[in-house]
Amino acid sequence: MKYVKFGKHDFEVSRFGLGCMRFPKIKLEDGTEVINEKEAIDIIRTAIDGGVNYIDTAYVYPGSEVVVGKALQDGYREKVKLVTKLPIWSCTSEEDLQKFMDEELERLQTDYLDIYLLHNLFEANWAKVKQFNAIEFMKKQKEAGKAKLIGFSCHGQLSHWKEVVDANDWDVCMMQYNYFDKYYQAGEEGLKYASAKGLPVIIMESLRGGMLGQTPPENVAEKLAKVPGETYGEKSFAWLINQPECTVMLSGCSSVEHVKENLKTFDKYEPNHLTEEQLKAYDEAREEWNKKTLVACTGCAYCMPCPMGVDIPGIFKYYNDTVRVLDKSQSQTFLYAQLFSHSKKDPTQCIECGKCMSHCPQNIQIPVKLKEAHEACAPKN
Ligand code: SF4
Ligand code: SF4
Repeated sequence: MKYVKFGKHDFEVSRFGLGCMRFPKIKLEDGTEVINEKEAIDIIRTAIDGGVNYIDTAYVYPGSEVVVGKALQDGYREKVKLVTKLPIWSCTSEEDLQKFMDEELERLQTDYLDIYLLHNLFEANWAKVKQFNAIEFMKKQKEAGKAKLIGFSCHGQLSHWKEVVDANDWDVCMMQYNYFDKYYQAGEEGLKYASAKGLPVIIMESLRGGMLGQTPPENVAEKLAKVPGETYGEKSFAWLINQPECTVMLSGCSSVEHVKENLKTFDKYEPNHLTEEQLKAYDEAREEWNKKTLVACTGCAYCMPCPMGVDIPGIFKYYNDTVRVLDKSQSQTFLYAQLFSHSKKDPTQCIECGKCMSHCPQNIQIPVKLKEAHEACAPKN
């Protein structure tokens, strides 16, 4: 495992960080899905045994903090930097900040967090930070030793990202970044801006919700044939690892095999390993992807649940797949009806309440895009 100094702080972290938001699920008798605890604990401990010492979770990843708390028993807690996030958008008063943090500590079975982040400070949530003095709250937690380091995650645009970076003497920040998103949200310039200020930068959406780890359309695959890596996931991480400004790259592993594959990938590459020609191939791959993207949804599900039951990420994934990877042997409209129309999860249920939009880190005009998807995919009677 390759380690790197954590900015100005006197410890090192593994460049591979375990994102705890995509654990395998099991279905209960009543149809609800819960995390498969045994497999999730195996995933977490395999990563730690392999040298990973950065474990990232959040209040809003369903069931995740509880399972992470269980996995970190038996001496594992002391081996890692434990990171979680405060869901600022769910706070309705200053007191809620403490309430959420106390609940998170209890779920995680710990007295302190190594790193505590204000979750997703994109433009809409930034107002709440100011309204509830959340930065002061975080500073107090640090003084009290309840959070050793404090920071934020943010999906905002570049100018907003810079404002948040400059708003406090943060210890760490977290952004969406991968070869597809080089110029999206804060992008490459935002990464360099934060890094130049001495901030460790944690990378989320390294594989853009899994999209960059799958077999891409032919036009993209052709370009990626010129870059290193045995799998598409490896090719994507090779691009990130190349950049020394990327301190830790999170991967939301959903199996032990996935963890093992990542451990190998992160052992293989060093910063600045790519040639000019290979970097150009990634740029060309991004241009090809852009020809195949209808809606910029990453499948994070922050917009869910929709009060009307619309399966927002499911519909957007389907819509994008119509031009990316849909199995062409099945009729597009038949599949759409199976997945959405018949289960009443389709966009016609949308009453345009706008509740989902205030949570979308990608700033997608959700009701508009849902209509577009429905027009393109629904069976025509
Ligand atoms: S705008 Fe539509 S999709 Fe979004 S939460 Fe409201 S009903 Fe659901
Ligand atoms: S619409 Fe936005 S919030 Fe919902 S899953 Fe997609 S990216 Fe996430």
